[in-house]
Amino acid sequence: AVARARQAIVDHARLVPDFPQPGIAFKDLTPVLADPVGLAAVVTALTHGCTDVDLVAGIDARGFLLGGAVARELGVGVLAVRKGGKLPPPVHSVTYSLEYGTATLEIPASAVDVASRRILLVDDVLATGGTAVAAAELLGRAGGVVVGVAVIMELDGLDGRATIARGLGAHLPVHA
Ligand code: AMP
Repeated sequence: AVARARQAIVDHARLVPDFPQPGIAFKDLTPVLADPVGLAAVVTALTHGCTDVDLVAGIDARGFLLGGAVARELGVGVLAVRKGGKLPPPVHSVTYSLEYGTATLEIPASAVDVASRRILLVDDVLATGGTAVAAAELLGRAGGVVVGVAVIMELDGLDGRATIARGLGAHLPVHA
């Protein structure tokens, strides 16, 4: 599955220079997900070796697409970790710093019982790791435990893995 996923990325991923800011090389994986073979391959690869998870959390927005498919494959439910201002109250909320400015992530505070759930965080791209750490803190605030991070692609040179190890513990599996 990993080899097929790699091939799908080579065949379909698009690199967009200078988006959304000058100097950023944006990895557009939407064509991988739009391809039937690509979607199946990345979803299977993301769930590879993944046991003892009872909830998947997908990070806004491409993590939603992947998260639902990964959850179905694992036979568990899915929760959307949303950008600020989209969910009705009450919410748990975390604001964290980005390279430019800040961002807010939210989950429902009472509609979904996250307490003691073992959660796999899913997103398309791991860059600095700031989003994954913030999402894990948010889920932790609701009593959940993030037991792994799964992404399609990890960007070299941004130390996302090290940031996750610092923020969430070196034992936490990061699967890219
Ligand atoms: P970070 O918090 O830096 O790890 O950023 C991760 C989030 O930003 C993910 O939700 C990605 O979808 C998105 N992202 C960051 N950098 C890139 C990039 N170069 N190409 C595509 N998506 C990116």
